[in-house]
Amino acid sequence: MAWKALDDMDLKGKRVLVRVDINVPVEGGRVTDPTRIRRIVPTVNDIVKAGGTPILLAHFDRPKGKVVPGMSLEQVVPALSQELGRDVVFIDGDYGSRVSALGEGEVALLENLRFNPGEESNDKGFAERLASLGDVYVNDAFSAAHRAHASTEALAHLLPACAGRLMAEELGALEKALGNPERPVMAIVGGAKVSTKLDLLGNLVRKVNHLVIGGGMANTFLAAQGIDVGKSLAEHDMTDTAREILDKADEAGCEIILPHDVVVAREFKADAESEVVDAKKCPSDAMILDAGPESVERIGKAMSGCRTLIWNGPLGAFEIQPFDAATNAAAAIAAERTRSGELVSVAGGGDTVSALIKAGVAEDFTYISSAGGAFLEWMEGKTLPGVAALES
Ligand code: ADP
Ligand code: MG
Repeated sequence: MAWKALDDMDLKGKRVLVRVDINVPVEGGRVTDPTRIRRIVPTVNDIVKAGGTPILLAHFDRPKGKVVPGMSLEQVVPALSQELGRDVVFIDGDYGSRVSALGEGEVALLENLRFNPGEESNDKGFAERLASLGDVYVNDAFSAAHRAHASTEALAHLLPACAGRLMAEELGALEKALGNPERPVMAIVGGAKVSTKLDLLGNLVRKVNHLVIGGGMANTFLAAQGIDVGKSLAEHDMTDTAREILDKADEAGCEIILPHDVVVAREFKADAESEVVDAKKCPSDAMILDAGPESVERIGKAMSGCRTLIWNGPLGAFEIQPFDAATNAAAAIAAERTRSGELVSVAGGGDTVSALIKAGVAEDFTYISSAGGAFLEWMEGKTLPGVAALES
């Protein structure tokens, strides 16, 4: 990988512009979940330890280039100070003079960058203004790296640039999972719809040895094979696309694993009456809400021959019991194999992260990415502008 790490930079006496993602949930002016803040602590504190002055650059919500007082980053300052264990100087308005007044070892946070239209338009002038505030640029916001914005892209070209600790950790995990993985590799792709994950499936069939398709999207693949899926969630206008993906997999020598048996119910509610049936025999008045136990066994068997697992999308409607069973069982197998050192397991995606936390395996996976859209685009094989800018 061609990017520099924090330890490659001389930070002593330098003002260090650090792009972070602290777009945390806030209710009534208070941060309700500081997870994202916690993850940038090592980078910020290591910059201070190395004698630098971190100046944090971040966005909050979607003010669309205008000043929206309710979207000020000032409301994040108390939680940020608490997690860092240091006071944070909040700087809004004209940054220049306030930034030059910062002393060594102080930590500053600039007001929501998206208050300025130049941020989202990747404006060179805005990036130059930001660059004039610092000597070094650190990007620690992998989750914002799929967007070419002034603070994630243009700015990286204007100063000596490197990846922060969190960014480096994330890139390292992704490289191990799909860039240069130990083979065989299994991918599990589930979730609601094929249409949102076409690029993902198209990229994975070329890169992995086994592709498990689950969740609502598996129904579309079953329908593509002429199977009646009853009242299941399925995109009947996507069956041609599903067939193309199957052909592509065939050409690439990628084994596709579709549900063999399924859990069906007439109602989509907690503890609804359900039964396990052959995937080819969904009753016409029922819907498929999860993969069945035989399918899980197959997945487990294929996984036992694999060295790497990459996972996006639950295998069933995991929010509601008992339709979380297949997701939980597959997660438990992956966790067990990861603990024993046989498997590298990397997962990401909003609902996937919730599902794996719910399954109680989040700690056992090699890496769980909280980067959402950026993780998906990376899995789709796309170049992330924020990462590419660090590499040049
Ligand atoms: P992620 O956010 O991890 O990328 P998705 O948003 O693609 O995942 O998919 C998650 C959603 O898919 C969940 O809300 C889950 O209930 C739904 N889902 C999974 N399987 C089914 C199914 N068989 N029928 C209906 N919905 C399903
Ligand atoms: Mg989702």
